[in-house]
Amino acid sequence: MTLSVVGHFIDGVQVASKSGRTAPVFDPALGVETKLVALANAAEIDAVISAAKTAFVEWRDVPQSKRQQIMFKFRELLNERKGELAEIITSEHGKVLSDALGEITRGQEVVEFACGMPHLLKGFYTENASTGVDVYSTRQPLGVVAIISPFNFPAMVPMWFFPIAIAAGNTVVLKPSEKDPSAAIWMAELWREAGLPSGVFNVLNGDKEAVDGLLTHPDVQAISFVGSTPIAQYVYEIGSKNGKRVQALGGAKNHMLVLPDADLDLVADSAINAGFGSAGERCMAISVVVAVEPVADVLIDKVTERMAKLRTGDGRRGCDMGPLVTKQHRDKVASYIDIAAADGARVVVDGRDQEFDGDAKGFWLGPTLLDNVPTTSKVYTEEIFGPVLSVIRVKSFDEGVALINASPFGNGTAIFTNDGGAARRFQYEIEVGMIGINVPIPVPVAYYSFGGFKNSLFGDTKAHGVEGVHFFTKGKAITSRWLDPSHGGINLGFPQN
Ligand code: NAD
Repeated sequence: MTLSVVGHFIDGVQVASKSGRTAPVFDPALGVETKLVALANAAEIDAVISAAKTAFVEWRDVPQSKRQQIMFKFRELLNERKGELAEIITSEHGKVLSDALGEITRGQEVVEFACGMPHLLKGFYTENASTGVDVYSTRQPLGVVAIISPFNFPAMVPMWFFPIAIAAGNTVVLKPSEKDPSAAIWMAELWREAGLPSGVFNVLNGDKEAVDGLLTHPDVQAISFVGSTPIAQYVYEIGSKNGKRVQALGGAKNHMLVLPDADLDLVADSAINAGFGSAGERCMAISVVVAVEPVADVLIDKVTERMAKLRTGDGRRGCDMGPLVTKQHRDKVASYIDIAAADGARVVVDGRDQEFDGDAKGFWLGPTLLDNVPTTSKVYTEEIFGPVLSVIRVKSFDEGVALINASPFGNGTAIFTNDGGAARRFQYEIEVGMIGINVPIPVPVAYYSFGGFKNSLFGDTKAHGVEGVHFFTKGKAITSRWLDPSHGGINLGFPQN
């Protein structure tokens, strides 16, 4: 059987690739290759950037009210038809349908935020800053901006960026993950239906060659990257060296600190949701429960009891958890269970020993629980990005905070307690960008900004919210004087009054 090839979306139309290079796309629950994705060559990289550059000339001049109408239309279409997009995501990523719908809804919130762009782009105005002199500021679009996204949120992560970039007057080249490229093409078609002019939103499929092309091309002004830490660091360095504005969000290892006074049923539910939702393939997943003794044994019993009820299987069958994205990734995640045992951890629940509601060839790994994981083990020091939850026992709040602060990652964290003073100290002392207090996955709403510290974010600007608006615009300050007949004379100093 000949497999279809997911191509590019350039200048308002889907374009078949001529590069001759492709990568396989799988249905992870079936364990079979269902299509191919094109990997762009140099000519295609040039073509997409050129289309976006040409479109910018007119798009930046389109009045804000007109841009806003298109944003609203995109929002309405997305809201009506998100079921279609969720099915595409589940068929290539594997996450269960309800979770696919959830990620679209979180992305849609950024579209809704960007519908208010005229307000966000307003500048300041100071009358009479000096005698007869007014000073004011404006924010203008940058030009062509590139978004390079990871496999785990094929709709939400691009939507962290492109609604704001487009509403602010930029044109976009989105390079999705080659593991699940179809969501990007679907969203491009939706933009066309919403009336976005050709060339304003483009999709370039590809691998390292496409990324390098975007990082070095002189007509790309800014890069928004989301992915693993080593690639984020690379993108930040190469993009910056090439004179671009770069925000590069990297990997994570998120801890949940549990104090002895916490409601352990709430903690157990939260650990399950945050550890195993989307099979742990979330940058905000909780991967380490830090239990302040004496709670660990009771908590492990409660978590284990709940794990026994989880159904792992095909995301189209109403299961709780789907497969991992590829066989290679599934095998890598599973290998950490043996490493844990060899390093002296206790394997409480082994995800390899479970039954799955899906095709035997699917990339299955059930929820896994590890106790007493040594902090020197790779299971603790590396990002696993799968349904593997570790428990580490500590003696005190201070020991827990010190452990979390010693991590090279700083994306998300949570504290579970009923002590307001402890929660307040935690939020003050913890070196992490996004903090939950009795909330396990503290993904900020669209009008706040998303991003971590340390190896979880390279660059100083986070995604969406006001920081997102700043990232995709450049500020001008204008000092203006309209001469009146009373003015005159030479003055070589700065004006004093
Ligand atoms: P990845 O780093 O493998 O890929 C991300 C993007 O980089 C993809 O578009 C890919 O094509 C490209 N890429 C891959 N290898 C490259 C190379 N050698 N040179 C240039 N480009 C390359 O990440 P992934 O596996 O798709 O996604 C999972 C990772 O993303 C996890 O580490 C996760 O924590 C992270 N993530 C972080 C956030 C965040 O907000 N911090 C959000 C989502 C995912």
